[in-house]
Amino acid sequence: MRERASNGALWKKGTAILLSLFLLPTEMVYAGGPLTVGGPAEGVSGVPLLWDNTKPIAYRVDGGPLSQQPNGGPVIIDNPTSVTRVNKLFAYWSAVPTVSLSFTNAGGLLAVGSFPANGDVKSVNDFLAVAGDVTGQAPDPNSCNGGGQSPIMFDADGSIFDGLGLPPEVIGFAFQCAFNPTTGKIISAGAILNGRFQDVINNPNAGNFELTAAEFDQAFTHEFGHFIGLGHSQINVDVLLNAIKTGVPTCSTDDNAGMPLMFPVLGLCTARTTAGLPILAVDDAAWISKLYPVTSPPPVGKTSFNLAYGTISGTVFFSDGVTPAQGVNVIARNTSSPRRNAASAVSGYLFTGNLGQTVTCVNPAAPTPQTCSNLGDPFGSHDPALIGHFEIPLPPGTYTLQVESVFSGFAGGSSVGSLDPPIPVPGAYSSTATVSITAGATTSFNITLQGTQPRFDAFESASLLEPYRAIWLRGEQLIRRRQTT
Ligand SMILES: [Zn+2]
Repeated sequence: MRERASNGALWKKGTAILLSLFLLPTEMVYAGGPLTVGGPAEGVSGVPLLWDNTKPIAYRVDGGPLSQQPNGGPVIIDNPTSVTRVNKLFAYWSAVPTVSLSFTNAGGLLAVGSFPANGDVKSVNDFLAVAGDVTGQAPDPNSCNGGGQSPIMFDADGSIFDGLGLPPEVIGFAFQCAFNPTTGKIISAGAILNGRFQDVINNPNAGNFELTAAEFDQAFTHEFGHFIGLGHSQINVDVLLNAIKTGVPTCSTDDNAGMPLMFPVLGLCTARTTAGLPILAVDDAAWISKLYPVTSPPPVGKTSFNLAYGTISGTVFFSDGVTPAQGVNVIARNTSSPRRNAASAVSGYLFTGNLGQTVTCVNPAAPTPQTCSNLGDPFGSHDPALIGHFEIPLPPGTYTLQVESVFSGFAGGSSVGSLDPPIPVPGAYSSTATVSITAGATTSFNITLQGTQPRFDAFESASLLEPYRAIWLRGEQLIRRRQTT
């Protein structure tokens, strides 16, 4: 089993509240689809880390209230209401007709150390006990990191977040705790929700922000998306770029509809359900269906993935048409509703973001984490055929493909795709060519970027693009080194 963690946060920016949901900077994320992809020694190489969906995913829920006013004030959201709400948010994911996922509320939290069975998580120590965060020691087998339970915890008044040293803008975080290193199946995950955002006190100057119930639910449906293995997706990013430029987000209903729930920043647009939109965008429903597809024959009330989706699959290349380009966001937009009906993937999303190297190890022949500066990311495939590869699940229809850079601010915990930080797309792509998607079929479509530098010039110039690092080229050099020596 291995331990992983992720978190989410909310920022106040200009006149708009920007809700950003991100992972801890020490974590590598893979997205436009899966959160984490297996590597040579972790799970199955090139295969996303997912739950075993042949049985319900069992989570356990805190025994206390979701929200209570400070200093032991009135309870705003009591425990039964909170548990119902958690169940409802998980059900958004399992309700997708083409998704084969089920959840079960296994009851209250398990006892861990001095934390009692069915207890109320009230302190940092309670949180750390249940999460199993005991640096340097084997985690308790009942804890999340020990693989014993998948806890959904409530910090009713925000005091645990304060105690963890998190800024008051953080509304919660989710974390994948343990997985089987051989099969790549997730064993346990968790989340903690900050009830201060629902305490009916809106006093930003004192660090007490308030969200509508729909906004809060949207934030945690996103976190539960990470819990089940989804990464971030970038579609309609111009809404964010314009908001940064003008200080005021303008978001049409079409912009909102097409922006994924798994977009790293929330709060640019009205909460989806408030705007009358389904909580999952086309991209979210497509990707969770691809990761956990309903197979034929479908159970009652479900639809086979292959009857409802086709796939576009290809490779992004430099202008030479040979060299693959990783880290390029590819969006397929339906020609009849391009802003609303769109799905995406980042090229190389199954490939590692960092191959590492042994050259600078004290003893390159016997590399150890203690004597090497960079042994790479243990996650993600090392198969060079996947460097520029992308795949996008799509409802049948006619699409055009758009290519763009991942927004430079989506780094660290907000990463989209396997490169962190992201890189600027090294060339342009502009094509009105349409691609027809048929249910149950995969359509091949390669993208050759226009105007990229010849390969070695690209390497030299890209190396000067600080703070960006041309990781895709460094990676390729290392592969070549391995192949020729
Ligand atoms: Zn997120």
